[in-house]
Amino acid sequence: MILGSTGSIGTQSLEVIEAMAEMRGFDGDYKVFALCANNNIDLIEAQARKFKPEFCVLYEDKLARDLEVRLKDTGVRVLSGIDGINYIAAHERADYVLNALMGQIGLLPTLNALRAGKTLGIANKETLVAAGEIVMRAARENNAQIVPVDSEHCAILQCIQGENLSEVEKLRLTASGGPFYGKARQDLERVTVADALKHPTYPHMGRKITVDSATLMNKGLELIEAYWLFGTMPDNIEILIHRESIIHSFVQFTDKSVKAQLSLPDMRMCIRYALTYNKREKCKAAELDLTQVKNLSFAKPDDETFIFPELARFAIKEGGTLPAVMNAANEAAVGLFLQEKIRFLDIFDLVEKAVGQHINKKNPSLEYILYCIEETNNGITRHFI
Ligand code: MG
Repeated sequence: MILGSTGSIGTQSLEVIEAMAEMRGFDGDYKVFALCANNNIDLIEAQARKFKPEFCVLYEDKLARDLEVRLKDTGVRVLSGIDGINYIAAHERADYVLNALMGQIGLLPTLNALRAGKTLGIANKETLVAAGEIVMRAARENNAQIVPVDSEHCAILQCIQGENLSEVEKLRLTASGGPFYGKARQDLERVTVADALKHPTYPHMGRKITVDSATLMNKGLELIEAYWLFGTMPDNIEILIHRESIIHSFVQFTDKSVKAQLSLPDMRMCIRYALTYNKREKCKAAELDLTQVKNLSFAKPDDETFIFPELARFAIKEGGTLPAVMNAANEAAVGLFLQEKIRFLDIFDLVEKAVGQHINKKNPSLEYILYCIEETNNGITRHFI
């Protein structure tokens, strides 16, 4: 099942499923049980006709009713809203849930899938940032596996196969640096939404994650994601600028030996690995030719201009509700920036302020986290409605 099937990861996941079926000459292994999207009715209708799932969910109620009419001839059942998403995420007839929803809306479906013991492919890193402890506990208690789709974490997962996690000393997450690499704060005063959406190595990502790459918040979220997935202490997770996006991350072991995973920057690689976890599938993807790449460069990030990786490190070390608040503030600020209601630099200022003002609460319940998310979101957006 694919939650977020019309987004960048969702559409690429369906491409991978189709390509795998083609390589194997049959499609019995990867039957798409359900598709779910926010509001892209045309695309989900086309996907439903092609992949013939049992369920489609559209978040928006009215559009879901329209989709039901459109799909009348197909036998596909149509549901709506967060209740519809939660229902299919835990459905007994699905065994694998790929959560590619955008933002913290993915939290409840993630928990529902894990509590029902599903294997969860997670492209929705905001879920782990907002409620990592609760999510990881749900996985443990229900014997459910979480497989990262994020390229850095997919790389780390590949590097630690056959290794002992207690012998991992450091993780180095690579970052392209985004479109504003090398710029100082004053250079960013007038950058536009279009400027921020020009990612140097992954041009087809969704808008929110592309802005997160431009601010480097994406790397901050990934630092927290890596902490939860691999149990590495925040101070042992380094961020390394690597403009070419060929090395997707490094793992350093206690004997100072370092493993890395390399491939062309193509999210379909990570999706394929996440879907077939622990197996290597044949595929027709382009080969990595290092003589063409020529140069692999590395640099330390500019923490003065791009404050978010260190802010995220601070937030996860403090724990409690702080990571959820940082993430919620970022989601609200990026949303406003994409609507051209605030400037690029305001994203940094709004998030820093929300984190600074928050009264942190340790060991929060899920309800309290959701309350903090709502409060943070309202606190930021109410000035701009
Ligand atoms: Mg990533």
